[in-house]
Amino acid sequence: MAASSQIAQEQQRSAVLHRDIHHIPKQAVRGEGSYIFLENGQKILDATGGAAVSCLGHGNDQVNQAIVAQINQISYCHTAFFGIKTFEELAALMVNSTGNRLTKLFVISSGSEAMEAAMKLARQYFLELSTPQPQRTRFIARRQSYHGTTLGALSMGGHVSRRELFEPLLLPNVSHVSPCYAYRGRKDGESDEDYVARLANELDAEFQRVGPETVCAFVAEPVVGAALGCVPAVPGYLQAMKRVCEKYGALLILDEVMSGMGRCGTLHAWEQEGVVPDIQTIGKGFGGGYLPIAGVLIGEHIVDTLDKGTGVFRHGQTYQGHPVACAAALAVQKIIREQNLLENVRAMGALLESELKRRLKDHPNVGDIRGRGLFWGIEFVKDKKTKEPFDPKLGVSARVQNTALEPAYGISLYAGAGTVDGVRGDHILIAPPYNTTKEEIELIASLTQRVIEDVFSKISTS
Ligand SMILES: *Cc1c(COP(=O)(O)O)cnc(C)c1O
Repeated sequence: MAASSQIAQEQQRSAVLHRDIHHIPKQAVRGEGSYIFLENGQKILDATGGAAVSCLGHGNDQVNQAIVAQINQISYCHTAFFGIKTFEELAALMVNSTGNRLTKLFVISSGSEAMEAAMKLARQYFLELSTPQPQRTRFIARRQSYHGTTLGALSMGGHVSRRELFEPLLLPNVSHVSPCYAYRGRKDGESDEDYVARLANELDAEFQRVGPETVCAFVAEPVVGAALGCVPAVPGYLQAMKRVCEKYGALLILDEVMSGMGRCGTLHAWEQEGVVPDIQTIGKGFGGGYLPIAGVLIGEHIVDTLDKGTGVFRHGQTYQGHPVACAAALAVQKIIREQNLLENVRAMGALLESELKRRLKDHPNVGDIRGRGLFWGIEFVKDKKTKEPFDPKLGVSARVQNTALEPAYGISLYAGAGTVDGVRGDHILIAPPYNTTKEEIELIASLTQRVIEDVFSKISTS
């Protein structure tokens, strides 16, 4: 049969708009712990939890029961009419987890929506101050970042390929500075202090360029996820950025949709940075994939300002604070605490780091292994010395992801590209569940090594 008619037939078999119309993914029929089972009998070690989502693995009975219990009570009621205990309990737990420095929780269904809400909240805060600052309309974010797919969030992100088609629709009032990306950004011989000072100067200059009194907030991921592949900031970086924000009266918004909720070994990634954000977004690991849920945690001064102002956040959605989603997130968060899973994230994370480095740091095409907690990235290079990336046409990271899923390996590795400059560069991301075991970590490291050796043995580096 001709290839094209085969594709046409495949398309007819599915009414779903799959991510790629030409490719119908293998059907998953069951998830259990760290494994996903496919219709064809294959078993996949889910080393990424999708996009760092499934923080408790699959099929957690306690979470499933909490969801059923909530459905049996009430599945939906509109937050403009009614409140529910589950949401109250979830919010109290989350606020408490910040040491009461962020004092309210807003809940919606996705990280993108959380970022939209964060932007509007920042804007509204300046309008509700006793002396309003309506001239604040701008945001400064960073290149090689991802903040979501809706137009506001996409405008904030610096992910070149995800922005590309929609550039003409994106907000003109967002500009971007360099990420903190030591592997490529720090100059030879430059100390962390000097690198941080240089980045702080760059941010300061950007405030000056756009007019410091026009900026609502600086926006950053504490550990960059999909766009850079698990890149933590160097020590002192976020503190220095916060000082620049404070100098100009702008807010600091930290996007912890991927890096937060325990992924980096503390419930909030900022706990390791010596800063508290004014606004924080959370997502992926919040509900662990059991239901769609994300949130915005809001600093006390912003809440107080709203309180003394209109008292109304002018932003509402039908499914905000959805009871069943809140029940799922509450169960996930309680399990993380009850089972002391952050300790396991730190211990298994240290093991994953040492196993990956032991097996792969000398591989000629592994340029950098970096991360934090159970959030690790491997960046690939054509030339280890010069750090030259592969030709994007080779699709190196996609090849690694696809090879990993083959029956010979059976592991999920999350591919990313554009690492270097938004276009060139390849990485993969590994994000096992918080309750993973030593045996699983060793298996993840050894399979990853074998996949990488296999893929690069077939790619010409000449
Ligand atoms: C995934 C992600 C988002 C967007 O979340 P969605 O749930 O996909 O809308 C925003 N920011 C970061 C850092 C993310 O990783």
